[in-house]
Amino acid sequence: MRIILLGAPGSGKGTQAKFISEKYTIPQISTGDLLRAAVSKGTDYGKQAKALMDNGQLVPDEVVLGIIKDRLQDDDVKNGFILDGFPRNISQADSLETLLEDLGQPIDTSLLIDVDSDILMKRLTGRLSCPNCGAVFNRYTSPPATENTCDACGTELFHRDDDNEETIGKRLNVYEENTAPLIDYYAEHNKLRRINGIGEMATITRTIFAELDAIS
Ligand code: AMP
Repeated sequence: MRIILLGAPGSGKGTQAKFISEKYTIPQISTGDLLRAAVSKGTDYGKQAKALMDNGQLVPDEVVLGIIKDRLQDDDVKNGFILDGFPRNISQADSLETLLEDLGQPIDTSLLIDVDSDILMKRLTGRLSCPNCGAVFNRYTSPPATENTCDACGTELFHRDDDNEETIGKRLNVYEENTAPLIDYYAEHNKLRRINGIGEMATITRTIFAELDAIS
């Protein structure tokens, strides 16, 4: 199954992508995670990306496309994948469509995780992520049992550099301007399913699984 997860920063894409990845045994491909890995390794991609990421702006399309093209060559994507954080604008969506057409592997659906913007700021300022297993917690709404420690694997949690109020504001504006138009784009291609992203995490996961089971 080949899926695109759409939704604003803080909508829960990363969290739900992990559950989908486990249930359907397909890898989660997060361009944000791949870029953060490139930044910490000091690669050329990483150096180009760092300042833009810290400022809440999008990294140039050619950099992200290079990363995605490389990743889609890996063996583990043969049975499908979940794209989390890509595409981020119409031009990336067009490039992805061409790329997947060439590979004979079209997208099955996109899933929009829909959350009101006033809730997003609170979720993002409180977000704590595990660098080891990718689990996500929130200081206000779902804190770990032991302060700053991942419940799942015991690793120290980190607060992302770009999860401060100023950068979050910019990221939400970038989302509205560049990424939200993808909702109509995939609706017009008959490849959009909307999921209510407010409420219990497990309920949202169940709704997503029901949608995906219906098409698999
Ligand atoms: P994320 O982890 O998805 O919130 O992404 C963190 C940051 O990485 C974004 O604010 C962008 O600077 C950059 N980024 C991630 N994915 C993309 C993409 N598809 N296109 C451009 N920039 C991206």
